[in-house]
Amino acid sequence: MGVSRRNFLKFSGGSIAAVVGAGLLTNGFIDNEVTNAAAESGGPTIAYKHGVCGICEMACAMTGKIENGRLVKLEGKPGDQHAKGSLCAKGNAGINMLYDPDRLKAPMLKTTAGRILGQDPGWKKLTWDDAINRAASEIKKAIDQYGPQSVMWIGTHTGVDFLRAIGSPNDITHQSTCNAVRQLACQLTLDCVNYVPDFDNSKYIMAFGWDQLGKGKNSFARGPIQAKYQNGAKLIVFDPRLSTTASKADEWIPIRPGTDLAVILAMLNVIIAEQRYNAEYIAAYVTGFQELTEEVKKYTPEWAANLSDVPADTIRRIAREFSGGCPALIPIHKREAIQSRPGGFELVRASLALMAITGNIERKGGIMIPRVGGLNYVGPNAQAPDPKVIQRVDGGHMFPLAVKGPLMGPGLYQSVPDMILADQPYPIKVAIVYAQSLQSMPNPQKWAQAFAKLDYLININIYPDDIATMADLVLPEPVYLERYEVSPRQTNARYVQIALAEPMIEPLYDTKEVGEIKHLIAKQLGLDEYLTPVGKSVLDYRISKSGTNLDTALANGGLISGSMDFVPKSLNQLQTESGKIQIYSPKLKEMGYSPLPFFDESWLMHPQNPDEFYMVTSRPPMHRHAKTHNMRWLNEIMPEGYICINSSKAAALGIADGDTIELSTEFGKDQGKAKLTEGIRPDTICILHGFGQKSPFLQLVKNDGMNDGVIMPSWPKEKSIEVKDPTGACLDCQMIVKVRKVG
Ligand code: SF4
Repeated sequence: MGVSRRNFLKFSGGSIAAVVGAGLLTNGFIDNEVTNAAAESGGPTIAYKHGVCGICEMACAMTGKIENGRLVKLEGKPGDQHAKGSLCAKGNAGINMLYDPDRLKAPMLKTTAGRILGQDPGWKKLTWDDAINRAASEIKKAIDQYGPQSVMWIGTHTGVDFLRAIGSPNDITHQSTCNAVRQLACQLTLDCVNYVPDFDNSKYIMAFGWDQLGKGKNSFARGPIQAKYQNGAKLIVFDPRLSTTASKADEWIPIRPGTDLAVILAMLNVIIAEQRYNAEYIAAYVTGFQELTEEVKKYTPEWAANLSDVPADTIRRIAREFSGGCPALIPIHKREAIQSRPGGFELVRASLALMAITGNIERKGGIMIPRVGGLNYVGPNAQAPDPKVIQRVDGGHMFPLAVKGPLMGPGLYQSVPDMILADQPYPIKVAIVYAQSLQSMPNPQKWAQAFAKLDYLININIYPDDIATMADLVLPEPVYLERYEVSPRQTNARYVQIALAEPMIEPLYDTKEVGEIKHLIAKQLGLDEYLTPVGKSVLDYRISKSGTNLDTALANGGLISGSMDFVPKSLNQLQTESGKIQIYSPKLKEMGYSPLPFFDESWLMHPQNPDEFYMVTSRPPMHRHAKTHNMRWLNEIMPEGYICINSSKAAALGIADGDTIELSTEFGKDQGKAKLTEGIRPDTICILHGFGQKSPFLQLVKNDGMNDGVIMPSWPKEKSIEVKDPTGACLDCQMIVKVRKVG
């Protein structure tokens, strides 16, 4: 059936306002006159569907064009605060994921012995009934013989209800390698899990290792550029390499890796010593200014200059500029190298303190607490008791700031494999791995050994990737373009907004969503009443607060938006210890940690020999972790990763552009291609993250480069205590790398 003008308007909610809200009429790729004429003359049938990009956490709202039942184009919705009318390269290429011939198409059973990275598992196709029975039976066997704690779920908190139902505390997430540091610092200081940089209205942007322009994340990437060219903002970037953001900056300062916090503390010293703070704002909204004043006296610009290679005069000048009265901000994202060393938590706290004492929190052009809301909570029919065993395999229970109760909060991803290998604090027998890749695991070779030791490994996945090939049982999920979704804006939410998605096409294969998979396994175990309900009616209830249901909201444009007006939140009614912005934390002191942001020089490690380097990591704009590498367009643009090394330093080591080099640390070694550039400090290398897939089933991904995790540490939990980190952060850049030419 073609789409007539009348049907098109009906689909779009019947009013021009609703259509514009859907981003349908204003999208350049949709020419309605042509579309309607084609349909009426017996041409292709065309439909438009609402979607939410599932490639990164920005979840950009989009419209899909379906021609003769095939999705042919995705386009960002203009009314979405994240997409603002366009998708990044990854979002555009979503079609490649949907139609990827290598996708998992049915449940699969491994028929070969052992769990070996890169193996052919001799897969045998199963029915869903058979697959669910096998999963439930292996989980039951482990519970009966070793207790419920012997079962762990590795994912993005998706297994919490399932683990609570069976009684296991082992909710393992990768957050300690990613956003835990930022989340916990923001929660402690501001009562929110992240913050929104108001680039649009800012006049001064100071970034430390932040490179969202280089990573191509829509919602953040355009901000500093528009601020600079449309609002006259000054952009200052501290980064050991000339990142994309640094290349657009007014000033690039090639700081020594690991010393950004020292520079921020020195700026606090200057601003307080010169009384350049906002006394009225501090008196009204900030707790701990007096204590901070005493603490930062020792962090002079000269002290920081000595550590960081940033001249003391530069530190003073930038501190004065930042506190000069114009709205100013420091953007912080996640998984940045600056957060991957000891002091990452203190760096976020110090940045918040700097913005607090200059009055830049909940101020136009400064930072805002995210405006998240609008959804009803949906819980299980019955509440399972807390697990009896509270000791977690990752040691998270030893970090009460991070893990506030059973099955709550991020843990310590990096410490899991050693604990499994040592049967500590008890044996782990079954792991269910969801939406994780070996490329995101620090020290994947150790993870592979840990997986090999288990009795059973279950993987819920879209692709036959490295983990899938090792798993005993693989359960396939649909791609995000085949599902309904309710997506409230969370990260970078400037105003309340919910984006909705419907299946662009019927699911192509015999797949099930993770929520249904959990239910089916729990049902076999007689525990499904403890699982969060799933289905379209649940989504209806979630958005009913907005006075609508899914079908109506989709018909009205697929976006539910609150007021865009900036109304500052009250900063003395926060859920922090004092109700205000909490710079000094008695709670941290009680836990035995520093109540104020601080620097410890013993954290610093330095190269000692000409072949030794600091390491930082980055991600290219056309890939997202390891999940996009088999997508045709993205693979064509970037089929292989590389390692950036300073040209002069490379010449001294006999390394030419494109040479194969070996990187080694005490934790592992691997090889990749060298890319020579003047845009990096001579003592630092930068490796692109997400490469190094070994699976034989991803046809486009062959020898795609080095997995950065291979040389990264997987520190035990005691390391976090040693470096006085209350978050249990991964510290995955805390090492020195040796480089040598091999080919
Ligand atoms: S930034 Fe790109 S990958 Fe992320 S949600 Fe938006 S379109 Fe998708």
